[in-house]
Amino acid sequence: LLSEKATAAYEGARSKAQRFLNAADPREIIFTRGTTEGINLVAQTWGRKNLASGDEIIVTQMEHHSNIVPWQMLCGEKGALLKVAPIADSGELVLEELWKLFTPKTKLLALTHVSNALGTVNPIAQIVKFAHEKGVKVLVDGAQAVPHHPVDVRELDCDFYAFSGHKLYGPTGIGVLYGKYGLLDAMPPYQGGGDMILSVTFEKTLFKKPPHKFEAGTPHIAGVIGLGAALDYVTGIGLENIARHEGDLLAYGTQKLGELPGLGWIGTAAHKAGVLSFTLGEIHPHDIGTLLDRQGVAIRAGHHCAQPVMDRFGIPATARASLGLYNTRAEIDALSKALRKVLEVFR
Ligand code: PLP
Repeated sequence: LLSEKATAAYEGARSKAQRFLNAADPREIIFTRGTTEGINLVAQTWGRKNLASGDEIIVTQMEHHSNIVPWQMLCGEKGALLKVAPIADSGELVLEELWKLFTPKTKLLALTHVSNALGTVNPIAQIVKFAHEKGVKVLVDGAQAVPHHPVDVRELDCDFYAFSGHKLYGPTGIGVLYGKYGLLDAMPPYQGGGDMILSVTFEKTLFKKPPHKFEAGTPHIAGVIGLGAALDYVTGIGLENIARHEGDLLAYGTQKLGELPGLGWIGTAAHKAGVLSFTLGEIHPHDIGTLLDRQGVAIRAGHHCAQPVMDRFGIPATARASLGLYNTRAEIDALSKALRKVLEVFR
């Protein structure tokens, strides 16, 4: 039957995501619309249930807006406090300052694995260990980590981990939220509707167990299966191989672009993923982006949905070349050459 085939492919993709993250159980994998929805799901279910007035949530200064705003909304609703861990000039978290933010009122730490604006890779396992010793749960935004290196949620020991399909060469509109089963089981549902129930009467509705409790309505079947294909693709190449390739490009790009007069790096962490984020003298990053585009080089210019990072460095925006498994050294050369043209135009 076609419907049985679709169900098998859908649940098969769940098992692929489980293996991809090395989760203990496929029931710990919830399909979402993306990282943003995964974070909102935790805020609206776990957060609403477990947060009270006066409680505290910690985020970091390097978060994408999607890992700030849902917590601000929750804190506003609950009368809770949002605290922010600072970053150093290198774009690394200042761990000693992070540790100081923990109090008996802290309930959750939400932080990114890899910063999309800076490339910084955070020492998640170490941070989770510290947080757990204080009885604090940890949600990790993995949007920029999963395409670049292997991720093992059991090794990290994080409580929640969210990522998006479209950053992993998969379709848009689909993503994964991982949660430890015990936590998911104790959480109220996210949305109500079909597929998430065991039985419904007007007096009482019984919900399914995770993950289906969190997947109300007709799911994004095509997206889930497409995500499964993307997971097959990257695991087929091997995340270690991808990390090696991108690491080589990062080193090459850092050296090559570093030779350009007036180039300033934003994000120089010792442990960095494939992001080259920079400014070029006084030239506005949007002008850099436009002039590069005219030469057939596509980068991204802007605040990268991380305005607090821009504020931290006192700049409106950066130009950012993101490295992926498909990029080459020749493309870095082309970028460098095109940037020299930009400098000529503005001379
Ligand atoms: N977190 C980080 C670090 C990101 O780079 C992004 C996307 O740019 C997101 C979260 C949000 O992902 P999505 O828009 O797919 O939900």
